[in-house]
Amino acid sequence: MKPIRIAIDGPASSGKSTVAKIIAKDLDLTYLDTGAMYRACALVALQKETVDTTVITEFIHKNPLKFGQGRVFLGLNDITKIIRSNDVTAKVSEVAAMPEIRDLMTAEQRRIAKDGNIIMDGRDIGTVVLPDAELKIFLVADVAERAERRYKENLEKGIPSDLDALRKDIAARDKYDSERQVAPLKKATDAIEVDTTGLPIEEVVSIIEKHIQAIELK
Ligand code: C5P
Repeated sequence: MKPIRIAIDGPASSGKSTVAKIIAKDLDLTYLDTGAMYRACALVALQKETVDTTVITEFIHKNPLKFGQGRVFLGLNDITKIIRSNDVTAKVSEVAAMPEIRDLMTAEQRRIAKDGNIIMDGRDIGTVVLPDAELKIFLVADVAERAERRYKENLEKGIPSDLDALRKDIAARDKYDSERQVAPLKKATDAIEVDTTGLPIEEVVSIIEKHIQAIELK
């Protein structure tokens, strides 16, 4: 298999990380959840009680982000669970809109992707991080269905949530992410849009894997 870089972008809870993880396993690719990186920055902002980007970026330089076996570490701390908390979710878009934070995360994402054979999910992978990715997918889904998926995920993880509040939060986060000045959530002109509304995960995976096979056969 040729080294391949796959960008999966789309709004909140559109199924990006679920399908990216399955495809990474099926095809033996590295998976990078770039949302987790911005969530880690938001966690630092909350813990330090500041949105001063110098404080946040210096902390991350001293306590680098690491990924392994499905877990996320900030320095020596396992932050896998806490970065999914409601507090972090409510803060992340504000922190992710800051240019200095994006510069640091984008550089790190490109460094991780440099050898290829990677699938990354986020908002700006196809437009900014890897504009020359071999395959770009833009996943969309109806907001009511996305809220229901997140609700079920939260239930499984034991995170308390309210369906109506989730729907509003998801819509607000998408609006904020789409309207920011730097690297907004946007479909790359050469991305393939896949609407996952009403589709089972296996079918979304199969659609994307067919696109990957087509690239491999070129
Ligand atoms: O994917 P997830 O919902 O975990 O992302 C959390 C937030 O991180 C997004 O709402 C967005 O503000 C930010 N993000 C981003 N660029 C990415 C990935 C995530 O701005 N590539």
